[in-house]
Amino acid sequence: MIKITSLGGSGEDSRNCFLVQYSGFSLLLDCGVRREIAETARVYPGLTKEIAASLDAVLISHAHEDHTAALPYLYELGYRGNIYASGETIELIPSYLRKWVDYVHQNSGCLPFDEENISKLTFRTIDELPCPVMSGRDGHIIGGLWYLLEAEGKKLLYTGDLCFDSLLLEADPLPQADILIIDSAYASSVLDQKKQYEKLFEIAKQVTAAGGKLLLPVPANGRGIDMFIYLSRLKLPLFAESNIIKNAADLSQQQNWIKAFDLPVSGFTSVDKTNRETFLKPGISGVFLFGDGMMTGNAARQYFEAVRADSNSAVIISGHSAKGTPAKRLLDEDFRIRNGIAASVQRLTIKVHNDENDVLKIVEKVHPEYVMLFHANEEKCSGLTEKLNKCRITAVCGVNQTLTI
Ligand SMILES: [Zn+2]
Ligand SMILES: [Zn+2]
Repeated sequence: MIKITSLGGSGEDSRNCFLVQYSGFSLLLDCGVRREIAETARVYPGLTKEIAASLDAVLISHAHEDHTAALPYLYELGYRGNIYASGETIELIPSYLRKWVDYVHQNSGCLPFDEENISKLTFRTIDELPCPVMSGRDGHIIGGLWYLLEAEGKKLLYTGDLCFDSLLLEADPLPQADILIIDSAYASSVLDQKKQYEKLFEIAKQVTAAGGKLLLPVPANGRGIDMFIYLSRLKLPLFAESNIIKNAADLSQQQNWIKAFDLPVSGFTSVDKTNRETFLKPGISGVFLFGDGMMTGNAARQYFEAVRADSNSAVIISGHSAKGTPAKRLLDEDFRIRNGIAASVQRLTIKVHNDENDVLKIVEKVHPEYVMLFHANEEKCSGLTEKLNKCRITAVCGVNQTLTI
């Protein structure tokens, strides 16, 4: 018997963590947080001391906080075993854990673990995993992998976060499997990446033609770099924060993870804290790319203050915005009216996950009997689970969901 339990992630959009149990073996797939300041039970996965004691291994798909930042909490609960991931993910994880800890402190939240735990975690690359695993690149972030495991004669495919539409990152085709745990972040919508970029170009042209500033808060890697490369090819004034430019240069060296691309050497102005104020003065029009997708940091505040009273300026939120973050608040029109904000703020998703059609296409290829959807709430997934169930697939989506096979 194989039992898969979502300790977080299925039926919600974060704290991804799945417990896989079979023939005396117990494995945790990812161990993430919900990017909010709230009580432990809401922010962290449903882990217990008993679960921590029962685990043989923890396998991590990629470094993002919603897949890793509960690792020090798992250590607090007593887990002392190894954490397995790609070498690149192992390198990235500490900076994401630090980012999470800083975010909690800055927002006067409490950590349910000792910060020292971060340095005590033991990582190993997946070739040392005590159970056989096959993996492939997920097209979502450097180091990100999907995994195929074999248990009790069944194949289990865990996609991690997956995107076949990245301009830069390679994704490997998925193998067939009996059980599929799949990223369904954009369930209930269909997004054409090419059209999304065309819309972005249109808005950028309008805003700059009117003399305004277009703010693009993005993650400093992943989607942020995709957008930097795309925008640098357009004939528009582009101002990009230096960490995004540096990350793009670093990415161009990661030949094993990327599609061939030309690193832009011109067509943009590099911005950092020494010259930011100069470029944010009134009268300077352009597209401004900075690495803070939810606008929680001081630089984001500085950018926003420069445009808040200007009705010719705009902000585009292109990714996930957690409850309580400035990006989320600004998307609320009532909030903008109440606070006299003249700049327009809108959402335009640049894909880094699967949409409804992607999930259906993948299911057709992977041909599973059982599917667990994650990274979107139950309401968004309801149409998809219905469609899959009609195809005689046992599909589930929900908090604390289990699949027993
Ligand atoms: Zn991710
Ligand atoms: Zn994720």
